[in-house]
Amino acid sequence: MKNEYKTKARAFINGYFEEHPDNRFTAKEIYDWLSKKVEGVNRTTVYRNLDRMSEQGFLMKMKEPNSDSWFYQYSKGHAHCGKHMHAQCSNCGKVFHLEDKFVGEFEKLMDSEYGFSTEPGNTVIMGKCKDCRVK
Ligand SMILES: [Zn+2]
Ligand SMILES: [Zn+2]
Repeated sequence: MKNEYKTKARAFINGYFEEHPDNRFTAKEIYDWLSKKVEGVNRTTVYRNLDRMSEQGFLMKMKEPNSDSWFYQYSKGHAHCGKHMHAQCSNCGKVFHLEDKFVGEFEKLMDSEYGFSTEPGNTVIMGKCKDCRVK
């Protein structure tokens, strides 16, 4: 019974992220939503699922400079989101997975110019996407 309940929670979380690929959520938002769907769901189950799903590359886990919370977003099959940099539209929330060939150059410059070692997996460049710029 216990396992069945855990599988159910995971399936719900999966589905929710797949339905909202361009949105990011905090663990609390996921928990609040899931507790309305699955009776008796506990917070730890939700948090554990989110962390496992991030480790498995199903979700991106990111933090914003002005926030203490982690955000989770569907990675659309990008397997190495913990290792590369992302850019995100501050208007619609769309995420871009930045190529290593592009980011590698930036990391090298950060190191040689500022002696700064970047953490690509924790770095999100904020801006406006093509669609939001024209509006
Ligand atoms: Zn990514
Ligand atoms: Zn946008």
